[in-house]
Amino acid sequence: MPDVFLGLGANLGDRRATLRAAVAELRSLLSNVRVSALYETAPWGDQDQPAFLNAALRGTTELPPLDLLDATQDIERRLGRVRSARRWGPRAIDIDILLYGTEIVSHPRLTIPHRHLRDRGFVLRPLVDLAPARTIPPDHAQIAELLTIINADDIKQIEPPTWAD
Ligand code: ATP
Ligand code: MG
Ligand code: MG
Repeated sequence: MPDVFLGLGANLGDRRATLRAAVAELRSLLSNVRVSALYETAPWGDQDQPAFLNAALRGTTELPPLDLLDATQDIERRLGRVRSARRWGPRAIDIDILLYGTEIVSHPRLTIPHRHLRDRGFVLRPLVDLAPARTIPPDHAQIAELLTIINADDIKQIEPPTWAD
């Protein structure tokens, strides 16, 4: 079964409670789930919004990529995500598919690896907790190596991985 890595983020409402609920849902959707530490991060893109809590999650699944996207979007909706016209605006929960095995997906609804994986500290820092040596297609860049290239000084670990237990 391919291993998948998901990026989780929240900056509205009870951010930690929503992320814990998302992890609980993802534990029933995926097998062999492991969760990163919990990080607090300044907003990306649109700075005029509350700070985010971020984490990453690893699991394995038989679901094809688009079915996995349907399932994670369903969880977002159930946990109160409201689609807004404001790009990168505030949200109760965001679940992005970062990596799906070694696959490259280029579909109108789904790009894998996630298109901003390499330039976001709030994605790379939690990924390093789970799989520092993991490489990313197509060029086999290593996650820990990518993190050294960007500035991740503003990504603060606020709780160890037990936050999701
Ligand atoms: P970003 O993708 O830059 O982090 P976002 O997470 O705020 O932005 P969303 O509003 O959650 O964006 O999703 C917008 C669309 O992105 C979704 O409807 C989905 O079809 C598409 N999408 C493309 N690639 C992915 C991916 N790897 N994971 C999740 N959604 C994706
Ligand atoms: Mg996102
Ligand atoms: Mg998203």
